[in-house]
Amino acid sequence: MTQTPHVTQGANGAIHDVDVAIVGAGPVGLFAVFELGMLKMRAAVVDALDAIGGQCAALYPEKPIYDIPGYPEVMAYDLIEKLAEQAAPFDPSYHLGQQVETLERTSEGRWRLTTSKRVTIEATAVVIAAGVGAFGPNRPPLEGLEGYEASGAVQYMVPKPEAFRDKRLVIAGGGDSALDWALNLAPVARSVAVVHRRAKFRAAPDSVAKLNALAAAPDSGVELVVPYQLHRLDGDGEKLSAVVVRDLDGKERRLEADALLPFYGLSMNLGPIADWGLDLERSHVQVDPGSCVTSVPGVFAIGDVAAYPNKLKLILCGFSEAAMAAHAIYALVHPGEALHWEYSTTKGLPGDDQRDSAA
Ligand code: FAD
Repeated sequence: MTQTPHVTQGANGAIHDVDVAIVGAGPVGLFAVFELGMLKMRAAVVDALDAIGGQCAALYPEKPIYDIPGYPEVMAYDLIEKLAEQAAPFDPSYHLGQQVETLERTSEGRWRLTTSKRVTIEATAVVIAAGVGAFGPNRPPLEGLEGYEASGAVQYMVPKPEAFRDKRLVIAGGGDSALDWALNLAPVARSVAVVHRRAKFRAAPDSVAKLNALAAAPDSGVELVVPYQLHRLDGDGEKLSAVVVRDLDGKERRLEADALLPFYGLSMNLGPIADWGLDLERSHVQVDPGSCVTSVPGVFAIGDVAAYPNKLKLILCGFSEAAMAAHAIYALVHPGEALHWEYSTTKGLPGDDQRDSAA
């Protein structure tokens, strides 16, 4: 996953004083750091995941995205790296691996946000860029699962396909993620067994056709194990030796395996954000589309989590929302100071003067 500079991982009890606290280090939260920075506002970013990038990094790092303006094609992982690079001149602090928990007003009328690692951030405004909420994988109900998860024998994400070179893999699930990873890992792994409880997959027809063709080809190493369900993990509690599957009649098969990758979708929820007194619409935060302010003044929502009429859940729309929110927040952070509109071409970036004189 993407590495980020200036990461504060653990609890330190200190109060981080910034202009804006951003909840969510997905693509939209990262771009908000840039937009706020261009208007002279410093941000702290909190994310429940251990790495920045939100859905792009966690769910589809190696997939190409085709609808980012200016990039005819960009890998999701590369887009996140570029966004982090774009945000870096504004020196954000990242607080990863921790959920936001409470949000309260301070006596000075600012916001105090606390996280699950007891980090406290005080800010003049809060931007919720929490996407679909803190998400985690739906885990199969298998005995001893935790030990295999801890050793990496069971994984729910594929940050680096190379990690599975020459391994015997069992991929469980019948949706797009399961099929995409089966197709991506087939050339790398020694074998790939795809276990699904139905004979029919519910993924993109093109992926289903490609997988069927691979499974039919001799020596591809790909096998479709359908209709079967995961039943048991065999091994020493950490090192996996086989995944035992069962069909509806109770017939068992033992699939020799080094790793199990279950793709049963994600469980998502807004978590404590749902209790912050914001107007919600089916787990999304209602905002004014012109400023992205929520029903609570000083609290903004952008990206997938924000709801307004005709909202499109696209990264490019989130980028625009980040710009609108930053302009609305300027008046709160710099009260009484007129915002003189300038393009980035006019304004430049911090440090441009030194770069110019060094040239
Ligand atoms: P997210 O990326 O969801 O990031 C939100 C972050 O907030 C997460 O990291 C989460 O951990 C964190 N968070 C949530 N709650 C909390 C909390 N309480 N405390 C701390 N952290 C929290 N979009 C496109 O525009 N083009 C595409 O081609 C495209 N392809 C896609 C393909 C797939 C397979 C998927 C799944 C999505 C695709 N999308 C695409 C959608 C795109 O990824 C989302 O629109 C985008 O990620 C939204 O960005 P975001 O920053 O709003 O939220």
